[in-house]
Amino acid sequence: MSAIASPVPPAHPVTDVPPVVEEVLEDAERAALIARIKQLLKAQDAVLVAHYYTSGDLQRLAEETGGCVSDSLEMARFGHAAKASTLVVAGVRFMGETAKILNPEKRVLMPDLGAECSLDLSCPAEEFIPFCDAHPDRTVVVYANTSAAVKARADWVVTSSIAVRVVQHLKERGEKILWAPDRYLGDYVQRVTGADMLLWQGACVVHEKFKAEGIRELKRQHPEAAILVHPESPPEVIAMADVVGSTTQLIRAVETLPNPSFIVATDIGIFHKMHAVAPHKLLIEAPSGGKGATCVSCAHCPWMAMNGLRKLAHVLETGENEIHVPEDICRRAARPINRMLEFAGQQSIPVLGRSGE
Ligand code: SF4
Repeated sequence: MSAIASPVPPAHPVTDVPPVVEEVLEDAERAALIARIKQLLKAQDAVLVAHYYTSGDLQRLAEETGGCVSDSLEMARFGHAAKASTLVVAGVRFMGETAKILNPEKRVLMPDLGAECSLDLSCPAEEFIPFCDAHPDRTVVVYANTSAAVKARADWVVTSSIAVRVVQHLKERGEKILWAPDRYLGDYVQRVTGADMLLWQGACVVHEKFKAEGIRELKRQHPEAAILVHPESPPEVIAMADVVGSTTQLIRAVETLPNPSFIVATDIGIFHKMHAVAPHKLLIEAPSGGKGATCVSCAHCPWMAMNGLRKLAHVLETGENEIHVPEDICRRAARPINRMLEFAGQQSIPVLGRSGE
């Protein structure tokens, strides 16, 4: 394995993490909102695309109305193929931006523009671009969880399910890599491929909290359980995994593996889909650092939780919260995304259209 050849970039800590505030609805209000949103989606020629980490209400509604529930890239690809002229993206901001980059002719709305991502926040373009300029000998590979401006500076955009294949390909071409922003996913890819990678020091505030010791204790209690881990988690947690993969790959593992139970180290929003594909299997939340000793698992993204039915109805009624990406950034950011799509097509990687966070 090659050593990291250059100094590690300075960390850009994300300290301003909001509390998780879930939408709470009485049944009558929920039913009224759902009925209203269904009317509005039709009237606005809009389709709802929701991420696996959003609430069960939003995921159900997306599926009931002909939208999609998936990971970030499939959300964008679905939006591109959809006939609707408006895409409503329930997720975090980089997902709305990616939808806009791939669908510049469409209107893209989001329930809450304050829905950020700590990985995106950890990698501001004004710091990242000069860092890339200081390392002109390296191919710039960025994770999907980045801003449009960062993607516009990249040579490649990757999702978690294709990152290893792309980096392996670049290594075989003799290329050295500058990777951003997730240091844990970057470290995982580096260990698997042996590529020379300079890692930006970002982290996901949800996944970096999973604790190996707590998972070990759960495994003692449930020896029959398979351990599923998203690669944004720390290396000692990844080392315990039976399956390391993107959200879609972890859902597929629950569906296809013979184990009766699973210890799941990713955002608990994914349980909605996992329950749907394997209703008789036991899903156990992997423990995280959380808010102290009383927190069994706080593994839920505070920004994903900002999405809800009330806000969704509001943006459909008002047209507020439209995503705009400057034209030149849109054009430049589309190149590394399309490079990934073409690579996947050439490699016949079937999961590509269902990859991402
Ligand atoms: S779960 Fe982590 S990586 Fe995903 S949107 Fe939230 S902060 Fe970002």
